[in-house]
Amino acid sequence: MIACWSCHKEAGPSPFCSACGELQPARPRDAFQVFDLSPRYHLDLAVLEKSWRERSKKLHPDKFVRAGARQRRFALEQTTLLNQAYKELKSPLARAELILRSNGYSTPTAEAGKAGAGEKLPLEFYEEVMVDREALDEAKAEGPEAVQALASQVLTRRDATLAIIDRAFADWERSGDAAALGPAEPELAKLRYYARFVDEVEGRPHD
Ligand SMILES: [Zn+2]
Repeated sequence: MIACWSCHKEAGPSPFCSACGELQPARPRDAFQVFDLSPRYHLDLAVLEKSWRERSKKLHPDKFVRAGARQRRFALEQTTLLNQAYKELKSPLARAELILRSNGYSTPTAEAGKAGAGEKLPLEFYEEVMVDREALDEAKAEGPEAVQALASQVLTRRDATLAIIDRAFADWERSGDAAALGPAEPELAKLRYYARFVDEVEGRPHD
């Protein structure tokens, strides 16, 4: 049990003690738990935003001006946890990675993926990557229009990858069978690759 710091009764999972209503310190929870959602890839983002707004309001520092320094610190911790969870659930890639990890897949996080660490690209994909590298060099030599054409071609492939991911998660949501997520794993690695590639083509920094 997690005891409330104030009333010492069971505090429950929410930011506020279920017995006395005092604000609790932020405890490690995954993004779905923070929003009291069961894990799903297909989320209604408008509903998620509404829930984020309501929760943010309850944790706003203004509400704790007259409370102690402890509660103000907890409010800040809880707000940070909430904002991180919101950012994670809003991103299809981060959401998918979270679901895969909690179903026993060793998917790297987006952060590690950016650095290319722990990337498990399908072997046949390396050829595609090499062809892209060459095409990018040629397009850069040719000019901005050629670069843009290459970018939109890569985006079309990314959309095909997204469609495979979408289907795998829909299967999992229907069956609850972790094996249904198998086809999504290599596609997520591709998705991270496409994101890095398009960033590079459009001259954005990698993070
Ligand atoms: Zn309490």
